[in-house]
Amino acid sequence: MDYISTRGKVEKCGFIDAFLMGLANDGGLVIPSEIPNISEQKLKEWQELSYQDLMLEIFSYYTNDEIPYEDLKKLVYDSYSTFRDEAVTPLKQINDSLYVLELFQGPTFAFKDVALQFMGNLYSYVATKRNEIINILGATSGDTGAAAIQGVRGKEGIRICILHPHQKVSKVQELQMTTVQDENVLNLSVKGNFDDCQQSIKELFADVDFKHKYHLRAINSINFVRILSQTVYYFYAYFQIAKAKPVGKVNFSVPTGNFGNIFSGYLAKQMGLPIGKLILATNENNILERFVKEGMYKPGEFYSTYSPSMDIQIASNFERYLYYLNDQNPDKVSELMNRFRAEGQLEIGPELLGKVALDFEAQGVKGADCLEIIDKYYKQSGYLFDPHTACGVKAYETCSGEQETCVVFATAHPAKFNEAIALIDIEQPFPTEIQQLFDKPQVQTVIENDKQVLVSELERFFG
Ligand SMILES: *Cc1c(COP(=O)(O)O)cnc(C)c1O
Repeated sequence: MDYISTRGKVEKCGFIDAFLMGLANDGGLVIPSEIPNISEQKLKEWQELSYQDLMLEIFSYYTNDEIPYEDLKKLVYDSYSTFRDEAVTPLKQINDSLYVLELFQGPTFAFKDVALQFMGNLYSYVATKRNEIINILGATSGDTGAAAIQGVRGKEGIRICILHPHQKVSKVQELQMTTVQDENVLNLSVKGNFDDCQQSIKELFADVDFKHKYHLRAINSINFVRILSQTVYYFYAYFQIAKAKPVGKVNFSVPTGNFGNIFSGYLAKQMGLPIGKLILATNENNILERFVKEGMYKPGEFYSTYSPSMDIQIASNFERYLYYLNDQNPDKVSELMNRFRAEGQLEIGPELLGKVALDFEAQGVKGADCLEIIDKYYKQSGYLFDPHTACGVKAYETCSGEQETCVVFATAHPAKFNEAIALIDIEQPFPTEIQQLFDKPQVQTVIENDKQVLVSELERFFG
């Protein structure tokens, strides 16, 4: 398998180089040159596999044997040994048509751990094997940063710097990042919002000289390995249902910000997994909902919501989808992205919009509805959703038919977002791992949203 760029101006490379490249050097995103098709026979065989063994099967289509099987096996098994549930991502049934896939059983209680525990180990493996210097730079709306830091803290040969928007992440998210004392970790708290942080990072990665000089590596969802790691649980969830009852297609409702998690679902569907609708759940920051419904991709006003990890206007992974939507034509993608850059919006015609509708539905969920969902299901079933997951549940109610089966992704543990839960007078017990954070000292550097200030911080830390 070769890896190429959505903009077509990067030479083909292998799996590890694709992993190290992160954002493609031509400003595009890295994708596999073809998507493998998994036969029905294979899908049947895979039903019985553990999460880890399923991941090994899926990765074998993508890694070109660049990592010896026994090494990959150790990386995978080590990565999920930190999870609190043996199933890694356990599936819970809520009612006849609704299942919840708990993606929050990792160290930081959000779904980002699933990919980042693995990527942390993979970076460490590559650093040792190839004698590479690995300096990870990333922006976070809260969860990615915490998960990335947990994935690499204290690991040899790796340093990590994470930007988060100052006072715009939840208390627990902030503590998870800033109570880490390891010397290979730098937290920059930027006086701006997530899009500002993300934009700075994108510019630095687009500056190929700077990127090479400081050996910068990405951990954001622009990294293809992160996307691929996240396809595993789509397969896993489907198989748990298929083992228990005859089922045709299954819908997935995915709380979405950067279009990363849901793009993994699109990839799983292209690989042959019988996915019905991919339901894209957003909060008031609903650029993606508007795209799916109207074909217009244009940032709107920024809202701070109960689901801060989805307070995102510009979805980094959207370009990957544009590539497939436009019949894998890199020139078309470059043209669209250039137009987006110049005009601040892009629009697709009715024909392409029809194509979008074959795979996606979308629902933006307002704060009041989000809280109502949490309250309603807690009273009905005793299950407590976090506010991101609640957006997914509301979108399931709106978009998934009564006779259809739907898996909603529980992308975070409710304790991580107690600010919202407390508003509806639900008192939840905190897991000990979270409770303990409140007693630890914090380390972080607060900076202005200014490129020069950022650059000098990075030069100091990585230089
Ligand atoms: C990151 C995150 C999301 C959004 O995922 P994307 O891959 O950015 O679409 C949703 N919910 C939670 C809890 C998250 O941390």
